Amino acid sequence: MQVCIHRGAKEIGGSCVEVISQGKRLIIDMGLPLDAEKNDKKYLPNIPGLDGTDNSLLAVLISHPHLDHFGLLAHISHRIPVIMGKDARRILTQASPFLPGLWPIPANGMDLRSEVPLHVGSFKITPFLIDHSGYDAYSILIEADGKRLFYSGDFRAHGRKASLTERLMTHPPKNIDVLLLEGSSLGRLDINESFLSETDIEQQLSDVFAQAKGLALVHTSSQNIDRIVSIFRACRKNGKTLVIDLYTAVILEATGNMNIPQSNWPDIALLIPQSQRVQILNNQWFDKLKKHSRNRIFIERLQEISTQSVLLFRPLHMGELEKAGLLKEAVYIYSQYKGYWEEDSYAYLRDWVLKHQIPKINIHTSGHASPVDLKRYADALQPTKIVPIHTFKPESYNQLYNNVELYADGKFWEV
Ligand SMILES: [Zn+2]
Repeated sequence: MQVCIHRGAKEIGGSCVEVISQGKRLIIDMGLPLDAEKNDKKYLPNIPGLDGTDNSLLAVLISHPHLDHFGLLAHISHRIPVIMGKDARRILTQASPFLPGLWPIPANGMDLRSEVPLHVGSFKITPFLIDHSGYDAYSILIEADGKRLFYSGDFRAHGRKASLTERLMTHPPKNIDVLLLEGSSLGRLDINESFLSETDIEQQLSDVFAQAKGLALVHTSSQNIDRIVSIFRACRKNGKTLVIDLYTAVILEATGNMNIPQSNWPDIALLIPQSQRVQILNNQWFDKLKKHSRNRIFIERLQEISTQSVLLFRPLHMGELEKAGLLKEAVYIYSQYKGYWEEDSYAYLRDWVLKHQIPKINIHTSGHASPVDLKRYADALQPTKIVPIHTFKPESYNQLYNNVELYADGKFWEV
């Protein structure tokens, strides 16, 4: 089996790997680079057959629904099957029409189901459901030509589904020749450091909610389902209502998991921001709206219950909150990667928080394994060789492991 990391050997985001066996090919992930200014075709890796005319390209496998792993699907033919988790596919399909910019809807293809092998050409593909901030995420074992390649995908062991990662580590697949291992946390944390757990985040949120004198605004991704659960649980502890928008309601439903908070649960309210009302009208989403309207409230009601409410904040709420006087005594909780806050794209938000003198509190933990857990994961899998991917620090893998080999982007090598 031949492998090529097309992108990701020395960067986080834009992951793309090609594997070849007996003249047939698979692509694993088709990510948009994190530094891309927009989702543009120019970022497509140089892989033959992305126009769907080459039968040697069997499928694209998507490990999980994060833009830096699937974004470039926007520029490849829908004739190429996309293999991914069923829930992840549903989330992307439902999310796309709500979001500005280019958010591809994946082409049809087989569904990944944890620990159920799929056969594609001479490849045997076995996915393992894993803990990550993206929903329905997998580590993937690829077997061909008597060789075994294990792709970690993005993962962690401190989220709400940590038990999935623990299970993989206690029941690891054997005889792994190569482990393609993500290393997002290297260079961000010291080698012995760990991240806060999602349970710690729930507690921190709960403490802030308990003391909030006005509306609490929590700014996170609606697709970070673990975080939404943490926020909801912290709300419950404090008798607060979680107020969501239609996009979030639709994403929560798209998980297909009715143990995850849903728009019709008693402690949840639906508030449709003005720009979303326009979107609903323009797209005739009346059925969608009706389906999620059981607990619908309007801004006047939010004014009445602001001290007992937590709003899942999106920037499209800004104008209305201001107009409704809901920023008095409000607190803004930033619950995303801190690097985004420094970027120019959030300058308007920094100004807004400052202008209204809203206290900003950071409560967040990473979607990626700490160096400590990266070490445990690789030790459990006992690969012959570890190859860095999805990292800015490939050279620092040597501090954790003694069987590391580096391969540059665009270079084919043999497993
Ligand atoms: Zn990810």
